[in-house]
Amino acid sequence: MNNLETRARELNEAIAEVRRELHAHPELEHDLPFTEGVVVRELGRLGLDEVKSGQGRGHGVYATLKGGKPGKTIALRADMDALPIQEETGLPFASTNGAMHACGHDAHVAMLLGAARLLAEARDELAGTVRFIFQPSEEADSGAASMIESGALENPNVDEIIGLHTGNLWSGLRPGQIGWRAGPMMASTNAFKILIKGKGGHGAIPHLSVDPIVIAAEAIVRLQTLVSREVSPFDPAVLTIGSIAGGKAGNVIAGSCEMLGMTRAFDPKLAEFLRERLRATVENTASSMRGHGTVDFIGYLPPVVNDPACARKMRDVLEGVFGKDWVQELAFPSTGAEDFAFYLEKVPGAFFFHCSTFDDPERNYPHHNSKFDVNESVLWTGAAAMTAYALKGLAS
Ligand SMILES: [Zn+2]
Ligand SMILES: [Zn+2]
Repeated sequence: MNNLETRARELNEAIAEVRRELHAHPELEHDLPFTEGVVVRELGRLGLDEVKSGQGRGHGVYATLKGGKPGKTIALRADMDALPIQEETGLPFASTNGAMHACGHDAHVAMLLGAARLLAEARDELAGTVRFIFQPSEEADSGAASMIESGALENPNVDEIIGLHTGNLWSGLRPGQIGWRAGPMMASTNAFKILIKGKGGHGAIPHLSVDPIVIAAEAIVRLQTLVSREVSPFDPAVLTIGSIAGGKAGNVIAGSCEMLGMTRAFDPKLAEFLRERLRATVENTASSMRGHGTVDFIGYLPPVVNDPACARKMRDVLEGVFGKDWVQELAFPSTGAEDFAFYLEKVPGAFFFHCSTFDDPERNYPHHNSKFDVNESVLWTGAAAMTAYALKGLAS
């Protein structure tokens, strides 16, 4: 066991303690004063060169550590926000405020703070500069963009950026392992809202009304043929309608019906094709049934595309420092989406999966589930992986 592994293991309980503190106090979107306070408190103990709070739309943080030797600048990024979910884990540190860290961002913050501590302790051997980015609002919108606008990638200019997502995003990884991939890693996502307008009336006299519920049902079925009939089976894509709302009574034909959904794709051109076909299908279906349909696109995230050199560098560094069983190449990308993509549009870098499942499958729940939890015993490997990349990857 080398020094970094020994020290990272020693810090696991401290990392887990911060994770529990954050888990008990989840905050949403850009409104993260408690979380920001914990990050600033922990970074303040490390003697860094710079800690800038109040970034983004008010509660983002970035910090800078200059190594003892000259070299490039690398950014390490964690997201800090939780989700509007009522927690049902039964954990002693479970949230009681109606929000929940159901995606593991509490662990992301704790692991990045752990990496900051490990790197601060090793600053004499660090060749270059490390920028730590704690961003708001990954789950909602504008989190990454707000930090880029605040200058998180500047002064000094960031040469590479690394991030990871913990949890069970890839079923083939064992707890503590890092999954890597060159090229596409996560999908683009396009959220949309569909409004079908009809003409309300009495449920017993449908011919005098235009029923938006029937139009919506027809539109959903047609939309589900876009991926299956109009997209090559070799181009992955997803179209989901996740919400439908219209009408209040069984004997009343509603005046309108609203649906929410999203598409996923890895090729930006395919994402654009789906947008066009979605709009045409909704408008044409509605007009052919005497109604009116519109589609509003309410949020777009580009795909996460890993720079192959950065992705392979993580593999080489981890194999060299810790051993071959620390990493696994992922056979195909995830259809999840991440606003880490915005950083990758500015600087080369790579995003990785950190597996924090439990050996007992009964304890594993999907991300965004009210019983989601992470295996705290492996948090140190995420901190160690980012530390090793910064220590070894900058010098090469
Ligand atoms: Zn999430
Ligand atoms: Zn997440």
